[in-house]
Amino acid sequence: MEIKFVKSANLKDKVEESKLGFGKYFTDYMFIMDWDVNVGWHDARIVPFGKIELHPASTVLHYGEEIFEGLKAYRTADGTIQLFRPEENAKRMNNSALRMCLPTIPEEDFLEIVKTFVKIEEEWVPHSFGTSLYLRPFTFGDDEHLGVHTCKHVVFMLIASPSGSYYPQGINPVNIMIEDEDVRAVRGGTGYAKCGGNYAASARAGEKAMKKNYVQVLWLDGVERKYIEEVGAMNVMFKINGEIVTPALTGSILPGITRKSCLELLRAKGYKVSERLLSVDELAAACENGTLEEAWGTGTAAVVSPIGKLAYKDKEYIINNNEIGSVTQMLYDTLTGIQWGKVEDTFNWVTKIQ
Ligand SMILES: *Cc1c(COP(=O)(O)O)cnc(C)c1O
Repeated sequence: MEIKFVKSANLKDKVEESKLGFGKYFTDYMFIMDWDVNVGWHDARIVPFGKIELHPASTVLHYGEEIFEGLKAYRTADGTIQLFRPEENAKRMNNSALRMCLPTIPEEDFLEIVKTFVKIEEEWVPHSFGTSLYLRPFTFGDDEHLGVHTCKHVVFMLIASPSGSYYPQGINPVNIMIEDEDVRAVRGGTGYAKCGGNYAASARAGEKAMKKNYVQVLWLDGVERKYIEEVGAMNVMFKINGEIVTPALTGSILPGITRKSCLELLRAKGYKVSERLLSVDELAAACENGTLEEAWGTGTAAVVSPIGKLAYKDKEYIINNNEIGSVTQMLYDTLTGIQWGKVEDTFNWVTKIQ
């Protein structure tokens, strides 16, 4: 594909790596392309980062037509810049697009856009272990009238934010509250799509949990409020009596790439792994009788996040003494090792930026 490049007249100063945080700073450029029902994708361009103009009736502002992805560019000790399973992001973005009646992007074009953009912005990939250049591709509907119908004009963009280590003070287990009132998604809905609307729908429960000093919500299924689904913006896994259990992808759960990678790694190492329904009663019983050995969330931002405390109704359970468990630690060390080039990539997960 042809990507036009408009050079910026003045490049920004880089931010000190210890002060990066997450998603606060942006690089010098952004990628944009337009889609029209009659011409398809066109005008692919990398231009100086800046504000965009939207018509006040733009579809995204009224009907939430928006999907996104999240992935990182990592710098290894020898300076190589690499991506982790970006083809999985390309596929998932297209699955999300199909659910929301937004246009798909050929996987090879998505990969070319990401690679070309990262190459141009390579100096923005921070150097220390745990830091990365966070990449945010997103697509939104931009018709300039209020009629409700599938979009005829759509925009795809890619922006990038140099981000600090998720664990600047070392990995600390988090406390999580099981939400039994609000639900995030239902089967047949948009739970498996990475769309902005899912986050809007989950804001209230997140707020409620924060007020009670829990960092995130553990969602139950939307029909019976009985089965464990996922944590905030992460998938969730448990070690119960030696077995690794994670909720099956039933349609209301986001199919995480970190989830998939953890499962492949655990199976390769010979663990017993089950993707199945897990009821909150079974989980509570495992907490009570001591067979819940570990619990952790998985997602691109944190990689893995150990769960130290779990609250359900008026009870609070402590998991593994509120410490990171050995399986969680192994997953963290192996995945971050592969991502930052310290551990051999035997699964062929890494794409180097040449
Ligand atoms: C992105 C996301 C995840 C994690 O997916 P990864 O591909 O592992 O980053 C989990 N749950 C939700 C709701 C998400 O949006």
